[in-house]
Amino acid sequence: MEENFRDSIGTINKEGKRAWVFPKKPSGPLYEYRKYVSYALLLFLLASPFIKINGNQFLMFNVLERRFNIFGLPFWPQDFYLFVLSMIIGVVFIALFTVAFGRIFCGWLCPQTIFMEMVFRRVEYWIDGDRGAQKRLDRQEWNAEKIKKRALKWTVFFFISFLIANVFLAYLIGSDRLLLYISQGPFRHISTLVSLLIFTAVFFFVFAWFREQVCIIACPYGRMQGVLLDNKSVVVAYDHKRGEAEKGRKKFKKGEDRQALGHGDCIDCFQCVNVCPTGIDIRNGTQLECVNCTACIDECDTIMENVHLPKGLIRYASEENIEKKTPFEFTPRLKGYSAVLLILIGILAGMLFLRNDLEANILRLPGQLYEHKENNIISNVFTYKLLNKTTKTIDDVSFKLLSHNGKIEVVTHENFDVPAQGLSEGTLFIEINNSALNGDKDKLRIGVYSGEHLIETTTARFLAPRSYK
Ligand code: SF4
Ligand code: SF4
Repeated sequence: MEENFRDSIGTINKEGKRAWVFPKKPSGPLYEYRKYVSYALLLFLLASPFIKINGNQFLMFNVLERRFNIFGLPFWPQDFYLFVLSMIIGVVFIALFTVAFGRIFCGWLCPQTIFMEMVFRRVEYWIDGDRGAQKRLDRQEWNAEKIKKRALKWTVFFFISFLIANVFLAYLIGSDRLLLYISQGPFRHISTLVSLLIFTAVFFFVFAWFREQVCIIACPYGRMQGVLLDNKSVVVAYDHKRGEAEKGRKKFKKGEDRQALGHGDCIDCFQCVNVCPTGIDIRNGTQLECVNCTACIDECDTIMENVHLPKGLIRYASEENIEKKTPFEFTPRLKGYSAVLLILIGILAGMLFLRNDLEANILRLPGQLYEHKENNIISNVFTYKLLNKTTKTIDDVSFKLLSHNGKIEVVTHENFDVPAQGLSEGTLFIEINNSALNGDKDKLRIGVYSGEHLIETTTARFLAPRSYK
């Protein structure tokens, strides 16, 4: 075997410069399925910031104001624990998913692949033509045809990038504010306009030039593949046992009995290489550049059909499937991992939906102990903070002591409202008869009511003299 086998990546030439990839236009059943999946995901990505549920944007990640909406549920900095938990679950999920199913996510769901292969690449095929025409155009001098095609392509790319940047901004600052800024004219919001143009430039750079390099050198998930995959992981794989047989691959000759001659089923047509958007030869084994886009599966299946050999020379399979010549099966390991993944999704969904709309914090006033009052009443003073995470005012709010006999008196002596997505804070006194106390530091359970409805419960420590133990 050559000493330099696989010691360089397909997108860098011998001089160390970028080798531009001109992938052939994919076609085949998997590509069709991917198209449908990508249409659904594009619709989801583009529409999510403009959909409202109970007045809340469906998805919003307002990092500057630290406000997040997920599936229409508003999250605040106070929900940070949920964020940390979902991050931990997310990391476990990604690790398990990748160990079991390889990079399926990259090929089918990743926004980079979807925008690159299903939007920008298709515009490119439409303007520049297929692989051969693109290569010719690239070599061609800057004549009228090339200038016209490049100008058209880059203009379309710019507008798509601008559209994506607007949607991206709608995720960040909220679609209402974005639409308001647009209606007021961009020059009244220069800093937002500058951000928008920077995002547009970044998207243009990524999709017009950087392209597959994102997956190969920039994406941390792609870089982790080496440690996450093992020989049981299901990936897009070339069946080297079948493709190479005893005497290796060989060009197709009509009427030849390849099996009798000991040649494998690979007819060395290079179509799987030509169609690959990351410029690799999948026949060299699993490589970190492979985004599992399945274009080579479709392409090789078409070739196999044409030469009347069984399809599936390149297919979803694990290294073990190929070595042991076993078909893909849903093994107990995959079942186990899938069950764990489902449980994790369930936990996360439960955490998201069972979260309260009102966050209540009741803390003793610093530096204050307790006060004796008439008739053996002990009084403690507290501050309260109520955060309304919804877009509706919570009215007629009051507190009740749930764990002890006693009373809670807000300083203002009246019920109050908590404004939508706002905060109410103040001071309250809790008074409990000594006979109802169990010790000098009782834990109180306090109910927060809107009218007669209990909307949240919280706890607080009540201090009393030691003699009441
Ligand atoms: S497309 Fe199939 S037959 Fe052609 S080179 Fe690739 S693996 Fe071999
Ligand atoms: S090797 Fe096949 S699946 Fe992997 S990126 Fe290339 S075409 Fe897509």
